[in-house]
Amino acid sequence: MANNEESRGLKSLFDWFANRRKSGSTSLERQEREIADGLWHKCSKCSVLAYTKDLKANQMVCAECGHHNRVDSDERIRQLIDNNTWKPLDEHLRPTDPLEFRDRKLYSDRLRETQDKIGLIDAVHTGLGQINGLPIALGVMDFRFMGGSMGSVVGEKLTRMIEQATQRRYPVVIVCTSGGARMQEGMLSLMQMAKISAALQRHKDARLLYIPVLTNPTTGGVTASFAMLGDIILAEPKATIGFAGRRVIEQTLREKLPENFQTAEDLLQHGFVDDIVPRTQLKTTLAQLIALHQPVLTPPHMVLWETMSLTSTAAE
Ligand SMILES: [Zn+2]
Repeated sequence: MANNEESRGLKSLFDWFANRRKSGSTSLERQEREIADGLWHKCSKCSVLAYTKDLKANQMVCAECGHHNRVDSDERIRQLIDNNTWKPLDEHLRPTDPLEFRDRKLYSDRLRETQDKIGLIDAVHTGLGQINGLPIALGVMDFRFMGGSMGSVVGEKLTRMIEQATQRRYPVVIVCTSGGARMQEGMLSLMQMAKISAALQRHKDARLLYIPVLTNPTTGGVTASFAMLGDIILAEPKATIGFAGRRVIEQTLREKLPENFQTAEDLLQHGFVDDIVPRTQLKTTLAQLIALHQPVLTPPHMVLWETMSLTSTAAE
């Protein structure tokens, strides 16, 4: 009798564990399915699960640890530009394959596959819009398109946008993210660095403002040209910013580099970056900087005063 009761007790305990395991695995499966469906997002830094809707409302910044998740160019434009003010420029420019380059696959195939997969024609969006009511020309790079690499279309679109901005006397903001030059376009890709830099110099000669925003990662030819040519250079927290990769430098120098090497924080300390701005404050900060650099219009009473003093000087 006692044995029976004991075995029944053991059995129910066994069932309880079995059920628990079963329901545990179901909820784990469900959790994984929900992550896959995009309902939930697991932070790659602190592993905390966040409801994707909440994460998006917080501009893809983890509420727990402040990790800045990567955002695509469309989302970035939504975050920065006032509703219904965005006018895209040069959407018709398409990349070609003048060198008929082939690595593991043909560059032309790679282009087509990437375009079909993410629905972009190349790695940058350019346009005119308003930021808290102030007009700007904005370029936003997209890392999903071949690592945000700078090919001829990226160079041409950014150059045309800067030229438009100079003509209209608009400030320029470029949100950078890039692995560097696009090797599949060889020297044509490298020439974009000079072309964009020349357009920025003309913009500067016209006494107009340019602010690059360096996001994770900004490297290679982009860092070596327009990312570092700003009047005010902003960066997102913890962004990797550099020219050559860490491993290449370590192998060349044959020494271990510090942990924070090539981070926005390290660059700020060494004067390469002017400020680190969390994404949630980026729009306000940009609007404030642009407002501060608006051309000063002489108020009417000052004009009257100047006219009067000129008249009195003439009378003397
Ligand atoms: Zn986190």
